[in-house]
Amino acid sequence: MCNVPTINRIYLNKNLQTYFIDELHGITSGEQLYNSLHTASPTSIRINPNKIDYGLQLPQVLWCEQGYYLPQRPKFTLDPAFHAGAYYVQEASSMFLEHIVKPLATRPLKVLDLCAAPGGKSTQLISLMQRGSLLIANEVIQSRAHILSENVIKWGKSNCVVTNNDPKDFGFLEGFFDIVVVDAPCSGEGMFRKDPQAINEWSEAHVDLCSKRQTRILHDIWDCVAPGGTLIYSTCTYNQKENEDVVAAFLQQTGAECAHIPLQQEWKVVEHEKNGAVCYRFFPHKTQGEGFCVSVIHKRDGKEFVPPRKTPKSVDISIIEQKNRLHYSNLITDESIVYERQKGVMWSFSKNYRKLLLDIYAHCRVVHAGIPLVETIGHKLNPLPGLAFASSFNQTILPKYEVDLPTALRYFKKEALTLENLPSKGWIHLTYQGISIGFVKNIGNRANNPYPAAWAIKMNLQPELMWSIVEYR
Ligand code: SAM
Repeated sequence: MCNVPTINRIYLNKNLQTYFIDELHGITSGEQLYNSLHTASPTSIRINPNKIDYGLQLPQVLWCEQGYYLPQRPKFTLDPAFHAGAYYVQEASSMFLEHIVKPLATRPLKVLDLCAAPGGKSTQLISLMQRGSLLIANEVIQSRAHILSENVIKWGKSNCVVTNNDPKDFGFLEGFFDIVVVDAPCSGEGMFRKDPQAINEWSEAHVDLCSKRQTRILHDIWDCVAPGGTLIYSTCTYNQKENEDVVAAFLQQTGAECAHIPLQQEWKVVEHEKNGAVCYRFFPHKTQGEGFCVSVIHKRDGKEFVPPRKTPKSVDISIIEQKNRLHYSNLITDESIVYERQKGVMWSFSKNYRKLLLDIYAHCRVVHAGIPLVETIGHKLNPLPGLAFASSFNQTILPKYEVDLPTALRYFKKEALTLENLPSKGWIHLTYQGISIGFVKNIGNRANNPYPAAWAIKMNLQPELMWSIVEYR
């Protein structure tokens, strides 16, 4: 089932070794860090509590309730539960976000995840946020924004929007967000162990370029943080130029302050303070995870959000009026609104943010918002594949059919399926180990498979490598 963990040979030139020792002086031992780069990189996942509502028989990530370590790195592509959004493969150190956000998530929050692809932090935020919250997950690179959208749709909540914008484009939401997460593009020193290729892309000039870009991003988005709100800044790099120095200069320019986060000693997370910047640092020779650094910046005052007086006219969506919504009301179990984007394609979205949705569509390149519902053709409603992943999908409306592991993978490979003893003709709802995975249309001799080609498994389905996380139940 699993690949044997590989220990990557790391070849750092002498200059880089010295650089580490200099950069980490007074924080941790650069030599010990260097030596730890020759050890195996742990594999960790975070479960989606809406889909896996039981604990796994695996060692837990100390700072994240839903995080677990796997003994080896399996072929995630060959687990149906992975495609169904039942868990996310996330680096353990970065799961520390839970420890920061949990105490803030005691009320509904408005959150912006500004540099969000492929979606590790966004899916974690969704799991932490209370009912009535909103997440805008943004990614500036278009191709990556689509991967983010897939991961967010599969996580299955109706209160998330995925946008493909530059940080500057969020000016219309001045003073709006309780939390903004900037998981910044960086020089990636913390990834050297996992991905030695990152070493070839590293240079001191790149570090300088990254620190300038990080500073620009923080300034571009600062106005969007509500007074009393929180900006969470993180990187996966070790040097101080992209961490302490970026944060300290930002505090000086804005008058903001860093917050202190309580830690447990056995986590071995290092708190380092420099010129007012408080950074929480993860080193592979101390914690079971890769390199990571995070600061929590508190905004004391600033402009409050003022909702626009007029709803923008030219938006490319139309919200279905309540009286016509009945047609779709039994598809989902929550009280979301229904809106049409392309002709006949219906989506549902959290009803608390109806007006804001129009505003976001007017100002942003929206990749998706909420839950895909159905495509209407005449009087027929064809369920969209993404509906199957939604926590609010009303699973009583279609006949259900449980498939085995190879069949579930063939569904995710977009193959036409031949399923025995199907309960009826027409649309059938497929589950694997009770987890909702999708729909097929039974036409008699075979079942047609509408799974999106862009999401489909590309590799061969090797039976000997098939597995599932549910085995750790
Ligand atoms: N938060 C993500 C997660 O947990 O899965 C990882 C984010 S990654 C460290 C940084 C992201 O910032 C990348 O997806 C990258 O495309 C994006 N990015 C690159 N340049 C950017 C810029 N100028 N402004 C905003 N985001 C940028």
